[in-house]
Amino acid sequence: MVDLRSDTVTRPTPGMRAAMAAAEVGDDVYGEDPTVNALEAQVAAMFGHEAGLFAPTGSMANQLALQTLVPPGGELLCDADAHVVTYEVGAAAAYGGISSRTWPAAGGDPDPDLVAAMLRPAGFGAVPTRAVAVEQTHNRSGGQIIGTPVLRRLRAVTAAAGVALHCDGARIWHAHVADGVPLAEYGALFDTVSVCLSKGLGAPVGSVLVGSAERVAVARQLRKRMGGGMRQAGVLAAAGRYALAHHLDRLADDHARAARLAQALAPYGVVRPEQVRSNIVALDLSATALSGPALAEAAGAEGVLVSVVGPDTARLVTHLDIDDDAVDRAAVVLAGILRR
Ligand SMILES: *Cc1c(COP(=O)(O)O)cnc(C)c1O
Repeated sequence: MVDLRSDTVTRPTPGMRAAMAAAEVGDDVYGEDPTVNALEAQVAAMFGHEAGLFAPTGSMANQLALQTLVPPGGELLCDADAHVVTYEVGAAAAYGGISSRTWPAAGGDPDPDLVAAMLRPAGFGAVPTRAVAVEQTHNRSGGQIIGTPVLRRLRAVTAAAGVALHCDGARIWHAHVADGVPLAEYGALFDTVSVCLSKGLGAPVGSVLVGSAERVAVARQLRKRMGGGMRQAGVLAAAGRYALAHHLDRLADDHARAARLAQALAPYGVVRPEQVRSNIVALDLSATALSGPALAEAAGAEGVLVSVVGPDTARLVTHLDIDDDAVDRAAVVLAGILRR
């Protein structure tokens, strides 16, 4: 099987399992797990923020950030395709009492002027905009990367309006490796950043939220409310520390493999290789006779798993468990199906 559905399907390597087994642990709800504390401090330092908070999932890390940034009845603005309004099952509204409004899906190319025009000040009868969220890399657009000039303009327009800026950085590692932008430079642009250790980095579980010490202290309370207070979580944090030490730089290999897949499939008119910026290849099947589900079924029958993200769209994601041979095998199978 070549599993290209997501970079979440990776299994911990022997080295990672050894690090997990050897982890020093304590009760993290008491703040006594040294490995969790070390991971939180490490990730905060990488982004130049004061504090970090380990969370079981990226969704929880995002929602904790939003709950610290937007009071109930306030508004979040984000892209219509954003994970926070697409895949988090209404959490902002259900848990935070947060109203969400979206700009038309723009992937890695949000328009700061449009965002500025959408910001709603507090006033009689209005829903005040309290936070803007962006996604780096942008998942549903096929791993697009928002450039730092755009991010700086978003920072300027939100700061001028007293509105917070959150980054859903589930794959911000990939943007950092692809474009060489220092993580601290990204960190300086946002009030809060959530990152995933369980995507390309290959840890089995875990995300970290970074922000100011004051905000993270509030998020720590909210995490307990959400049921995310874990005990000897150092076993999991050790996997994250191992991933940061061993699996960050190698994301460049995943990007190269995604580019190779795109090159191999470009002749069938389903992807433009120059649009593949990181480890996600979005296939647009609208000019073919195949639907997304039909492609996924045919590929699955030949041992290649892809995900369906729309009626005419499929997604391929490279990761730690996909080597050059797996890419070549997937390319042959998918090309064979597209040629039929
Ligand atoms: C995967 C992902 C998350 C978090 O997902 P969890 O499954 O909750 O860890 C958040 N944002 C983006 C863009 C993602 O791709």
